Amino acid sequence: MIEKNYHTHTYRCKHAQGDCREYVTEALKAGCTTLGFSEHMPLPNDRWTHVHLEAHELQEYIDTVHRCRDENPDLEVLLGGECEYVKADHAYYEEVLLGEHRFDYLLGAPHWIPCGSDWVGYTHLERPKDLRYFADYCIDVIQSGLFSYIAHPDVFMVGYRTWDGSAAACARDIIEAAMACGVPLELNAYGLRKAEVFTFDEFHTAWYPYIGFWELASQLQAPMIIGSDAHAPEQLCDRVELCEEIVQRYGLDLHQELPYVKGKLPAGAC
Ligand SMILES: [Zn+2]
Ligand SMILES: [Zn+2]
Repeated sequence: MIEKNYHTHTYRCKHAQGDCREYVTEALKAGCTTLGFSEHMPLPNDRWTHVHLEAHELQEYIDTVHRCRDENPDLEVLLGGECEYVKADHAYYEEVLLGEHRFDYLLGAPHWIPCGSDWVGYTHLERPKDLRYFADYCIDVIQSGLFSYIAHPDVFMVGYRTWDGSAAACARDIIEAAMACGVPLELNAYGLRKAEVFTFDEFHTAWYPYIGFWELASQLQAPMIIGSDAHAPEQLCDRVELCEEIVQRYGLDLHQELPYVKGKLPAGAC
């Protein structure tokens, strides 16, 4: 049983259910020692607020997580945020979220990818060229030094759907960048829930987590982490044991601690 989960949402992102207290109840019931909230963060220009917090909701989210932390001394409750990374807004993550609001950590997530002049959703990455954009984006996220891990780095397979040379090269470039910077890659339990994968033998039917990506991560021994990505309190531990089985079967380099937390950027981040 994984004791630390850093990937948890609440009703505020408009596509999840439940609030912090209910997740705390689940975490205590399951014997977790750390529960990190990682609600989808607002961006400076109010981009994608249909699935993110809106800027005016941020303070209430922060206050609610802090209240849960104060009410539960036996559980480490952390204030985190899952972010789309807009490179031009680097200062926002560093100075506003980690700085002014003192977030404990941020997760970098590729949901929209800058492909030339447009931001394209991960389900629409269909051409080899799109995978180049995806890899370059993930490498920027990794090298920014802002993010404690990369959420579902294999999600490009939902759009691309063919494990060919382009897909393997995309995976390898992301994995090597993560290894160079010591940033873990996330094996995401939500993908297994979406695909209704219940056993290791069914793992190959999921588009993410994608089997080819994790075989390569295992070969290269890249640092990785398991994230529940719970969008409802009862999902907190759902498919997490299956993720652990995947870790065991492939001999993945599982980390439980974030490489940096409490808003401290890593010394000499690459
Ligand atoms: Zn979400
Ligand atoms: Zn998430």
